[in-house]
Amino acid sequence: MRHPASPHAPSHRRRSGAGHPLGWALGVVGLLLALVVLHGDLLPEAKSNRLVAMLAGLLFGLAIGGVIARRRLWEGIRQVRSELAERADEGELHSLSIPEDSMIDPLVVEINSVLRAANQRLSMATALRTAARSRAAESDRDKLTGLYNRGYLSKHLADEVGRTMALGSELSLIMIDVDHFKHYNDTQGHQRGDAVLRDVADLLNQSVRSLDVCVRYGGEEFTVLLPRTPLERAKRTAERIRSAIESHVFEAGELQPGGRLTVSLGVASLPRLAQDSETLIRMADEALYAAKHAGRNRVVGADEMTSSEQGLSGDSS
Ligand code: GH3
Ligand code: MG
Ligand code: MG
Repeated sequence: MRHPASPHAPSHRRRSGAGHPLGWALGVVGLLLALVVLHGDLLPEAKSNRLVAMLAGLLFGLAIGGVIARRRLWEGIRQVRSELAERADEGELHSLSIPEDSMIDPLVVEINSVLRAANQRLSMATALRTAARSRAAESDRDKLTGLYNRGYLSKHLADEVGRTMALGSELSLIMIDVDHFKHYNDTQGHQRGDAVLRDVADLLNQSVRSLDVCVRYGGEEFTVLLPRTPLERAKRTAERIRSAIESHVFEAGELQPGGRLTVSLGVASLPRLAQDSETLIRMADEALYAAKHAGRNRVVGADEMTSSEQGLSGDSS
């Protein structure tokens, strides 16, 4: 891409092909001497004429050579400047494409080596930045299920609550806990238990919208954060999740209490029931406790809890 109007465009272009004034002066003197020789009457001696003719030729040659050299030099400098301007505009640092036989070859070699060094540093910085970014992305994820982890939820939830309040929108949160998971682990082993957690994570992802955030909250507990979602709609999503897990065929699921592997879910929303992230999580947790208490494999909204159930959460066994 050429940049005729680039701010880096040569400001001396007007002079670049004009040659040095000394070159012109030499040329004019040479021409004058040549005229003197042509009108031989000023210097009658042939010897003097030859001398003057040689001098005139020399001066004229020097002048022409100077003008040509200067023209090529300026041409080279103009090319360097324009290529450097292109690289600056495009953020590229690859070598200049000035031909090797250029008059400014040593300058081009020097610039190219500076560009190469800068390029190496740039690639190193880019690689470090990419690695840092992927480390940060990894640290937000739960290794077993690939869902977001609790640390990410804490960071993300504060932003989401702020955005929801600022926009006058609604935000819901679903707390999910696998029923009788200790029994599953004890009878089927930890590895099969891990496979169940991965399946539950997949079913969660399949049951929610792309803007919802699925989190492994810890152990066999999961959270789904639903931006721009009122309580009733979040309860319907929770019911969809419950039903998807209940009807999924888990390995040895029929050996679980009730003959199926199931989950219990608690739902809360903001600003209707809570005004900050801690209260939102606590209310969803209390609703989950109420779901466990009511017999498991069900959805309970924080709005359905009796006053005696409020404030009770944590040990749900
Ligand atoms: P409830 O229906 O009341 O929730 O009963 P529960 O058995 O699911 O609850 P409890 O808290 O007694 O047991 C949770 C079990 O989850 C105990 C623990 O071994 C298991 N668990 C937690 N994290 C993991 C994990 O990463 N992998 C596996 N396989 N099991 C886990
Ligand atoms: Mg639990
Ligand atoms: Mg459990």
